[in-house]
Amino acid sequence: ERRNPGETEFHQAVHEVVESVMPFVLDHQKYKQAQILERMTEPDRIIIFRVTWQDDSGQIRANRAWRVQFNNSIGPYKGGLRFHPEVTLSVLKFLGFEQTFKNSLTGLPMGGAKGGANFNPKGKTDNEVMRFCHSMMTELHRHIGEDTDVPAGDIGVGGREISYLFGQYKRLANRYAGILTGKGLSFGGSKVRTEATGYGCAYFCENMLKHQHDSLEGKSCIVSGSGNVAIYTVEKLNHLGARAVTLSDSDGFVHDPDGIDAEKLAWVKELKEVRRGRISEYAEEFSTAKYHAGAKPWGVEADIAFPCATQNEIELEDAQSLLKNGVRAVAEGANMPTVLEGAHAFTESGILYAPSKAANAGGVAVSGLEQSQNALRISWDHEEVDRRLRGIMCDIHEKCVEYAKNGDGTVNYVRGANIAGFVKVADAMLAYGAV
Ligand code: NDP
Repeated sequence: ERRNPGETEFHQAVHEVVESVMPFVLDHQKYKQAQILERMTEPDRIIIFRVTWQDDSGQIRANRAWRVQFNNSIGPYKGGLRFHPEVTLSVLKFLGFEQTFKNSLTGLPMGGAKGGANFNPKGKTDNEVMRFCHSMMTELHRHIGEDTDVPAGDIGVGGREISYLFGQYKRLANRYAGILTGKGLSFGGSKVRTEATGYGCAYFCENMLKHQHDSLEGKSCIVSGSGNVAIYTVEKLNHLGARAVTLSDSDGFVHDPDGIDAEKLAWVKELKEVRRGRISEYAEEFSTAKYHAGAKPWGVEADIAFPCATQNEIELEDAQSLLKNGVRAVAEGANMPTVLEGAHAFTESGILYAPSKAANAGGVAVSGLEQSQNALRISWDHEEVDRRLRGIMCDIHEKCVEYAKNGDGTVNYVRGANIAGFVKVADAMLAYGAV
């Protein structure tokens, strides 16, 4: 509190990790003596800068941008950029801290970072977004590089924004290098990167169910959000025989008991990725669905919940309502979508609960594969990348089992993900000495 006043999201993320890692640290004096947890909760550095740009009416605008380079003990910094009016340093520090553990879990050589700006892309024209991105990169390019820090997308930053950012980097630096991931397929992007977080989240859930001799086949699923992660979670759920019945945005949710099948999902992709419209339009297009303005989908009865919108979207009452309705699993596609008390309720109830740093690691894992392909100057096909993604999600599941199997054979995935992510980074920090 005294070290980071007012940073509520950051405190929450650290609290959740320390709860499960502290007993482990106390059992292993080497980590305690080297003050590893204290060191891991302090970012390596934070860069804060102004982004000045001109809107279509000729008006000059100014936003604030950040890059939080959290920890590069096991590889160059890696983590997304978020454009959202509610972005603060606290939000980016929580995301960068989580990213360090998540990247470690993937088994790939990536450190943790996060960045973004309090810029609201909603309602902006392509030209305005372009000018903002170009201006942001004019400063950011000094701080990134393929062996230093490799940003990617997050909320409000998709293919369009990454392309504008990459174009400006190339122009300023006069070099063509894999300094961003999520690039277009014709200029260094990887197959399956767009789909990776959502696909990975469904794969992780599949692994949890398999561990209990069950499967996704026939399961009904609540999905929140209607952006990148939500859309590709639904797509993979369809592939695996499950049925997604909701999607949402910050204005409300749609409930389609018949399921959001491939045809309806193609319509959603067009709505969100091309027209940049609102999810309420879904209920106007499909008569099987009903729109609930100003509400969240957690009261809908289903087998599994996939929160895929934003942090703290599941409050304690939402968690209780999911449990009361008999949900069997929760797999977090968004980062820290459940408040701490809600997470405790899930863990205590004994349902399968996959925290975000395990369940949504597929996105950054395929970003890591994009970096490998860029370095090798080759491009793997869809099947190859998907096979690797599936393997990585399976390995993360195994690591959680290894570190946190309970006496009765069940697994505490929160503890498993935190400790497995911690050990690799902590051991590297120990080896470096006092750095
Ligand atoms: P998008 O910008 O593509 O979509 C975000 C979705 O969440 C939109 O439907 C948006 O609705 C909704 N949303 C955003 N903020 C809020 C809010 N404050 N309240 C309610 N709804 C909100 O982002 P992504 O799909 O990429 O990201 C979603 C989550 O997944 C984030 O937590 C992100 O950090 C996480 N994540 C993303 C990865 C990726 O590869 N993209 C990787 C790992 C994690 P609206 O349009 O109304 O704002």
